[in-house]
Amino acid sequence: MIYDTIIIGGGVSGTAVARELSRYTGKLCVVERCEDVCCGTSKANSAIVHAGFDAKPGSLMAKLNVAGSKTMAALSRELDFPYRQIGSLVLCWDEAQRPQLEHLYRQGLENGVEGLEILSGDQVRAMEPHVTQNCVAALWAPSAGIVCPFGMTFALAENAARNGAEFRFDTTVTGLARADGLWQVQTDRGILQARTVVNAAGVYAARLHNLVSSHPLHITPRKGEYCLLDKQAGSHVSHTIFQLPGKLGKGVLVTPTVHGNLLLGPTATDIEDFEGVNTTAQGLEAVLRTAALSVDNLPTRQIITSFAGLRAHEDGHEFVLGEVSDAPGFFDCAGIESPGLSSAPAIGILLAEQVAAKLGLSRRADFVPTRKGIVNPAALSFKARQALVRDNPAYGQIICRCESVTEGEILDAIRRTPGARSLDGVKRRTRAGMGRCQGGFCAPRVLELLSRELGVPMDQLTKAGGGSRLIAGTNKDSV
Ligand SMILES: Cc1cc2nc3c(=O)[nH]c(=O)nc-3n(C[C@H](O)[C@H](O)[C@H](O)COP(=O)(O)OP(=O)(O)OC[C@H]3O[C@@H](n4cnc5c(N)ncnc54)[C@H](O)[C@@H]3O)c2cc1C
Repeated sequence: MIYDTIIIGGGVSGTAVARELSRYTGKLCVVERCEDVCCGTSKANSAIVHAGFDAKPGSLMAKLNVAGSKTMAALSRELDFPYRQIGSLVLCWDEAQRPQLEHLYRQGLENGVEGLEILSGDQVRAMEPHVTQNCVAALWAPSAGIVCPFGMTFALAENAARNGAEFRFDTTVTGLARADGLWQVQTDRGILQARTVVNAAGVYAARLHNLVSSHPLHITPRKGEYCLLDKQAGSHVSHTIFQLPGKLGKGVLVTPTVHGNLLLGPTATDIEDFEGVNTTAQGLEAVLRTAALSVDNLPTRQIITSFAGLRAHEDGHEFVLGEVSDAPGFFDCAGIESPGLSSAPAIGILLAEQVAAKLGLSRRADFVPTRKGIVNPAALSFKARQALVRDNPAYGQIICRCESVTEGEILDAIRRTPGARSLDGVKRRTRAGMGRCQGGFCAPRVLELLSRELGVPMDQLTKAGGGSRLIAGTNKDSV
């Protein structure tokens, strides 16, 4: 099989490119080293759709952030994933910092961000009563939003698959070579061939780039640690609350999530370990201390988990997108640090257009632009829920008590393409295990459903692919 395009990496960037490229006639494959999409940075971030005032005017980051943010509402309706435009505030604590706030305001105007306003401290506290007394002003950006990064990535991947894209999981690209006018994509499961390659490998994108080009890229993993609070704390603030950005990024934020939790973080620390997603006592303590400068009385007893993600920080702090000058047909989608999630819809369009032009592909008449998410019975009217349960009693069986997730939703998550194959795959699609008990009750039931549906013995199932098996010993009755 010779593919027109192989996309390396099934994060939000790779799946956005796949979705946009599936509008065209070519044969397309996403190669992902993990067992699912959304296993890298796309699963561990602040989930903010930034308005677009942070990036330098004229940069790709600025243009694609604003373009992505403007299309997010329509995309979330088309592909049925959770998104809410709640607006953001950047707090200024000191009159001496006001010029920095005004700079952000002017930069935002130049980038084309709509509705920006500088508010007084009192106006801010009227909107957000828990903002601390030391706030003297804030930049209000009504176009900012929050999104479910898992929901968005799964939606893009499912829609790409619906339109013919193939997905190869548990497949790591180990080498790249050019022979007979094709890219030979060497993987730990054999060689794949393609006319073009899109390198959307997150923190590893520079390593792949440097295999094909004599103009090296350098990416530093920049760790961000978070505390996630229970839904009971979710209404402590109702907008995303930033601090003025520092040298290493946008600072620590306090924000509600689309699912009603409260999120505090991230830190920003450059590290050497490309897999270093552990949290640290020091990092989490810094999150709590810094978040408290913005918001009073944070209900920190409601913390239910902590996590960390790695920004793919490129030395020039810019997205690196497009065909590599000395590697014909090899397209970079590299250096996709924040605002990568916000920009993903626009990154997908840009790269798909470039790849399609290179290959001379035409638009397909039968492209299906829409996708429906997993039905959440709790969001239905009583009558509609009754009808659903009557048709399919699995929607009447609660598996995850904290998040009220039913067997019907979990079965749907497993049966989709690409579908869940691990405990985390189910968790990210349905929220089973994301609540207060973090899977303590539902994990065994979810494993039983995975085992039954996939025909895989319980002791072969994993939390998150690879060697992350959960059960030792064989359960002969489990299949
Ligand atoms: C702390 C933090 C906060 C952030 N907050 C925001 C925010 O609020 N808003 C926003 O817009 N952006 C934010 N971002 C940025 C955003 O999360 C990223 O830009 C985005 O998720 C990057 O997606 P990606 O697909 O490029 O990379 P990833 O999601 O990392 O995907 C890359 C994929 O490539 C796979 N891969 C790697 N190497 C190989 C290989 N050799 N073979 C096969 N597969 C491979 C990986 O397994 C991975 O799945 C934040 C990032 C961090 C870390």
